[in-house]
Amino acid sequence: MTGRSPSPLSSDRVRPDVAVVGAGPIGLAIAWRCAARGLRVVVHDPAPGSGASAVAAGMLSPVAEAYFGERQLTGLLLASAARWPAFAAELTEATGIEIGYRTEGTLMVGLTGDDLAEARRLWAYQQGLGLPVTPLRPSELRDSEPALAPRVRGGALAPTDHQVDPRLLVPALRTAAQRAGAVLVPQQVQALSDVDASVTVVAAGCGATALTGLPVRPVKGQILRLRAPDGVAPGFRHVIRGYADGEHVYLVPRADGEVVLGATVEERSDTTVTAGAVQRLLRAGVDLLPELAEYDLVEAVAGLRPGTPDNAPILGPLPDRPDVLVATGHHRHGIVLTPITADLIADLVLGGVPDPLLAPFRADRFFGGATVAASGLPEPSVEGDLWS
Ligand SMILES: Cc1cc2nc3c(=O)[nH]c(=O)nc-3n(C[C@H](O)[C@H](O)[C@H](O)COP(=O)(O)OP(=O)(O)OC[C@H]3O[C@@H](n4cnc5c(N)ncnc54)[C@H](O)[C@@H]3O)c2cc1C
Repeated sequence: MTGRSPSPLSSDRVRPDVAVVGAGPIGLAIAWRCAARGLRVVVHDPAPGSGASAVAAGMLSPVAEAYFGERQLTGLLLASAARWPAFAAELTEATGIEIGYRTEGTLMVGLTGDDLAEARRLWAYQQGLGLPVTPLRPSELRDSEPALAPRVRGGALAPTDHQVDPRLLVPALRTAAQRAGAVLVPQQVQALSDVDASVTVVAAGCGATALTGLPVRPVKGQILRLRAPDGVAPGFRHVIRGYADGEHVYLVPRADGEVVLGATVEERSDTTVTAGAVQRLLRAGVDLLPELAEYDLVEAVAGLRPGTPDNAPILGPLPDRPDVLVATGHHRHGIVLTPITADLIADLVLGGVPDPLLAPFRADRFFGGATVAASGLPEPSVEGDLWS
């Protein structure tokens, strides 16, 4: 305890050990891990779960998302994905809430010859990293997903890329954090000086920029939700990621009949839905899976991914502020990165030695303090840049 006057955001007379700013998946998972380890935790958010996670597809795809030039990030994605089975089981055990964690794997497909050539470049890179990508013969592809359009020229299986439903995950994390003793304060933090705690963790997604000055920018994603008619499950089981006449789309089937079809990647900060984006997503989706044309279109929405200049998250102390930890900039990967972010940030809060995995993701890399650690992956055999 200190003799400081109460902050505008005090939830309680006892000074918290940890104040988490932001109740998205990242902030709530950190709060859960810290509270479960006996710390007094408050979480500030005027609208928990209202950020990017409210629209996210929930693919856990370290293999399919292993892109050229991002080996450090791929290493972190793989390490986090490996924690997902235990994390999901522990969360359901703690809350009784099923979070839609599914392990059928991901099919990556190319519609035309050009699409397939493009996809094969990436698969070759991923295989060069030693990742499990199994090219399939056309007959094997059809056998694994008969609903795919006959026009689809070829595909590959990433069996270890799974999925979870973020709209179930976030309420489960909130329940787990509160059951472990974390207190939610439904208020926006205007400035770090408003927060009174031994350690502050900024996990505010795109809101981190205003609080820290770090280069986190909104990257807009428009995404659709469809529903199979008559309450049946979709006619496919795998997550399907495909190139269709140059459009890159994914289709995520849920057990309740929902299919998530996404997503655009736009350097914009508005959340309007445009006719052109909906048209492109639907055309590509239906080209890959013709039965989608008969589904109900139930939602078209946009969210803002917290992007960074190198597409990788920012994890660790704010430069010159050892009492402020940052966990933001998770961009396209915040759901898959939830378990590892929570574990490693909780370790830092408790004063542990920083895990070497964190070294490439420190905030000071944007202030001339870059560090490069081994990703644990071999040198790739192909190099280049596809999407940035
Ligand atoms: C279309 C789309 C599809 C995606 N698909 C996937 C996917 O398949 N797999 C995957 O891993 N990731 C995916 N993502 C990315 C993922 O959603 C994000 O990386 C993730 O949500 C980041 O989590 P977060 O908790 O850091 O931020 P957010 O989910 O954005 O939550 C931030 C929270 O902070 C709060 N907040 C902000 N400012 C303040 C403040 N000043 N005071 C208090 N609270 C504040 C907000 O209210 C919000 O609740 C997708 C994103 C989009 C947009």
